[in-house]
Amino acid sequence: MQYQSTRDKNLKASSAQAILNGLAPDGGLYTMSSFDEVKFDYTTVLNMDTMSMSTKILSKLLPDFSEAEMAKLVHDGYTGKFETDHLTPTVPVGEDFILELFRGPTSAFKDVALSMLPRLMTASKEKLGVDDEIMILTATSGDTGKAALEGFKGVDGVSIGVLFPDGGVSDIQRKQMVTTTGDNVQVWAVRGNFDDCQTGVKHAFADEKFAEKLLDEYRIALSSANSINWGRLLPQVVYYISSYAELVAAGKIEAGCPIDVCVPTGNFGNILAAWYAKQIGVPIERLLCASNDNRVLTDFINTGTYDISDREFILTSSPSMDILVSSNLERLLYLLSGDDKLIADLMKQLSENGEYEVPGDMLEKLHELFWAGFCDDEGAKTAIGKVWKDDHYLCDTHTAVAWDVAQQYKQANPEHNAVVVLSTASPY
Ligand SMILES: *Cc1c(COP(=O)(O)O)cnc(C)c1O
Repeated sequence: MQYQSTRDKNLKASSAQAILNGLAPDGGLYTMSSFDEVKFDYTTVLNMDTMSMSTKILSKLLPDFSEAEMAKLVHDGYTGKFETDHLTPTVPVGEDFILELFRGPTSAFKDVALSMLPRLMTASKEKLGVDDEIMILTATSGDTGKAALEGFKGVDGVSIGVLFPDGGVSDIQRKQMVTTTGDNVQVWAVRGNFDDCQTGVKHAFADEKFAEKLLDEYRIALSSANSINWGRLLPQVVYYISSYAELVAAGKIEAGCPIDVCVPTGNFGNILAAWYAKQIGVPIERLLCASNDNRVLTDFINTGTYDISDREFILTSSPSMDILVSSNLERLLYLLSGDDKLIADLMKQLSENGEYEVPGDMLEKLHELFWAGFCDDEGAKTAIGKVWKDDHYLCDTHTAVAWDVAQQYKQANPEHNAVVVLSTASPY
């Protein structure tokens, strides 16, 4: 199976190539052309343990890797790193469920994907016979950086450089990053916000002369560990299926019964993985997109206009969601329309005018799939207190935003399904 750029169908890559490249050469994101290529019967994995489930699903989604190869990568990536071999438990809280994604080595949900990505990268290098050093360049609002440094440190043939907004990450996140050991890691503080960091990284990737010089003179090829990297996104599909399996096994829902999931969203990677799981056939009905005060996605999903032209970037208590340009939305829009020219045009409008509007039929499809809401810092604080008082469960600020949006959704939609709220950070 070949992947292609969201902005030009003719720019194709194998899964190994897509993982090594990160971004497509035209600035687009790699994606499959349609889901028909990766459909499989999700019920066949429901009774598996999490590692076997990961192996099965990832080798389906990344067909360059055989099941035996993937089993080893999954084993090496996850064994002994998470609090339990189950990786991501789902716990009942009140009348809803919380999917805990923060039980990995740096207590961030990004550990789930970033424990796998370095393995996928070295395996891709081998597969393609690439001897050049791969240098990961990544922007972070805190959690990606520490999880990526942890995942890549000491990995042969790969080095990593992380850009973070100076003053825009928590003190503990900064310390986790700048104290990472290993001689293949670098960390830079940038005077600017997360979008400045991400834009800088994107420019470095788009600079062909720079890439040529790096490769010719230093034998270094750049790649990305942000969720624009295909290999970073796919490991996230697994926990939607394992959570569903857990609900069925615990007798909370019947097999085949639909659920709704509520995702605290930033770069749109996590919720995109939920949509992939749904496309594969997992009975997820509604995808609830939760934002903090940086509510560009809430407005987009409700109106069809993505507008950052005069939107202020707000620093909130859920900094991993302080994002105005949600890169992975591009993959969704591409797969909904199948129109690479349209996507190239929308992205051009975004970079030139700071806004774009999607066609009416696309907005209709969005409304069938998604429901969007936001919760400000005060609301998140209240939610943390309420969940603690009512259910004796302590959630972090990002989770609290999603929790609050889930309650808004339930109130507006009394006929809702069982709701799984994703918890992306440890409260501690
Ligand atoms: C990265 C992150 C998010 C946002 O996830 P996306 O995939 O970028 O939408 C939410 N919460 C936490 C704690 C994160 O680290």
